[in-house]
Amino acid sequence: MKTVKDYIRTIVDFPHEGIMFRDVTTLFADPRGFRMTIDQMLHPYAGQRIDKVVGLEARGFIIGGAIAHQLTLGFVPIRKKGKLPGAVLSEAYQLEYGEAVMEIHDDAIQPGERVLVVDDLLATGGTAAAGIKLIERLGGEIVGCAFIVDLPELGGRALLEDMGIDVHVLCE
Ligand code: 5GP
Repeated sequence: MKTVKDYIRTIVDFPHEGIMFRDVTTLFADPRGFRMTIDQMLHPYAGQRIDKVVGLEARGFIIGGAIAHQLTLGFVPIRKKGKLPGAVLSEAYQLEYGEAVMEIHDDAIQPGERVLVVDDLLATGGTAAAGIKLIERLGGEIVGCAFIVDLPELGGRALLEDMGIDVHVLCE
């Protein structure tokens, strides 16, 4: 039987020369691949109380929508700066060159809500760490962070674990 990793393709030199982009659209496009992804991402959290699912822009929305529907929970997007229409909290983080900003609606999480965070890929961990800080600033508790792919040499998992976050990945 094919594994999640078998459905992911690598695009060389995207978006810049020298980058090997792990493309999950081929995983999402396959009915068995997508079903398997959602099932495996949820597996460690069976029986745990979760109140909301948060997805990180953009592929985290595809995964998070499916997971929220599966669990009959609400879904909350964390987006890049300037995309959310209502009042927001912002969190900046460092990129290799410059900085990026992630935002959440300031009423999207209630204090004490238990939140599952999802995205497609964990690299340096900067995006996920910014998302976690936003949720925690609203008083949310992180149940865990689940990703399809981890690039371990970039240190994201260690960064999140140092923040006390439980990290779940399907493949490296
Ligand atoms: P980080 O903030 O951990 O360095 O980067 C992770 C973010 O960049 C995620 O939101 C992820 O979607 C995106 N990303 C970086 N590299 C890749 C890649 O090779 N493939 C995919 N699908 N996403 C990537």
